[in-house]
Amino acid sequence: MITPKSYDILLLAINLTSCCNLACHHCYLDAGTLQQGNPNELTTTEICNLLNEIAQRSPETMIVLTGGEPLIRNDIEILIKQGTQLGLAMVVGTNGMLLTEKRVQSLKEAGILGVGISLDSLDPAYHDTFRGRQGSWKKTMIGIENCRRHHLSFQLHFSVTENNANELPAMIDFARSSGARVFNVFFLVCTGRGQFMSDISATRYEHILESLIEAQAQSQEMIIRPRCAPHYKRIAHQRQPKSLLNQISGMEGDGCIAGTHYCRITPTGGITACPYIPVEIGNIRQHPFWEIWDNEFKELRTPTLKGNCGDCEYQKLCGGCRARPLAAGGDLMDTDKLCTYKPQGNAIIQPLQPLNIKWSPDAEKRMTRVPAFLRKMVRKRAEAYVAELGEPLVTPKHLAVLSARRFGGKPTL
Ligand code: SF4
Ligand code: SF4
Ligand code: SF4
Repeated sequence: MITPKSYDILLLAINLTSCCNLACHHCYLDAGTLQQGNPNELTTTEICNLLNEIAQRSPETMIVLTGGEPLIRNDIEILIKQGTQLGLAMVVGTNGMLLTEKRVQSLKEAGILGVGISLDSLDPAYHDTFRGRQGSWKKTMIGIENCRRHHLSFQLHFSVTENNANELPAMIDFARSSGARVFNVFFLVCTGRGQFMSDISATRYEHILESLIEAQAQSQEMIIRPRCAPHYKRIAHQRQPKSLLNQISGMEGDGCIAGTHYCRITPTGGITACPYIPVEIGNIRQHPFWEIWDNEFKELRTPTLKGNCGDCEYQKLCGGCRARPLAAGGDLMDTDKLCTYKPQGNAIIQPLQPLNIKWSPDAEKRMTRVPAFLRKMVRKRAEAYVAELGEPLVTPKHLAVLSARRFGGKPTL
């Protein structure tokens, strides 16, 4: 039986609308133009009620308001304010075109923690073609500059394809110089409007992941990470098998958490395991969120993987992307065909188990400064780091070193 405590929700994405001011080739939501959209979209009150419900049981959750283009909705500040007052970490995923100075200020006043902005190239023509609208690159760049100028924390989201993969080093340099806190590299899942796109090859994918691991190791000022690329975990482990940090699985290890600690609400209230898995397992208009969450997603929570993933030593650390086989017409549990690894028939590598590491009172105190939704991850990483050093106790010094590694700058206590 699934108990509520076994599967805390740490990340909830809400598609506020299916309207969009762009028409990207790869859109998983098949988002329409400004004039379209669905008249049946969740109302302000329905979303506020959902936020209340989430906060009552899980106030450490991060809520990602996204779309379509979420800034098209003029109630987004109300939602951010409501979520922030409840203690939730409220962020927005946007194409950046509507991030005027005024909007940046109103989002900040509402209590937003940060925004994620999609930018796919430094070449305006490529970005505009990929995003389906002339002039979009310029508007997005203005949005980025407005965030920087008004000190609104932002991440850049880069959707990598065969056509822009060679831009990665330049994009990383740009992200760093623009003041982004994080540079996320998204690997497409060919679903929605993107179902007719050709994905990058598995070999190319592997090379990109290798280069991201190297770029992150050298990056002092900014986090660089792949998204929706679980076999990043396998590659990191192959490179440094003894590192305890590489043995952390799930949320704490940056792995896939679809259906275990993450789900998505569609514009009309449906619940899916992640935005790229379109199967709705319930609707918040018909049943309370927690009732659905506690009783569904069993397949993802106790997976029986098939094919290469089912034979793989890394299945507990990685497990592959579950959306990809589904999008390719297969079963949720099938092989993730974007992985080049051939299982060797060795024993399954077990994820890191709880360590016997203590915390100093000062380190515990410092943890209160860490945003609630990050605490579990920081704890697990700190304990793995201290164990790697052969020490028994986490101190503020360890936390400062980890923070500097992850967020840049010199370690400060
Ligand atoms: S991918 Fe995002 S920005 Fe592009 S059309 Fe879809 S919702 Fe709009
Ligand atoms: S199933 Fe795939 S697309 Fe969905 S969250 Fe996991 S890695 Fe990402
Ligand atoms: S075969 Fe599957 S589980 Fe193994 S590394 Fe590749 S994607 Fe991960």
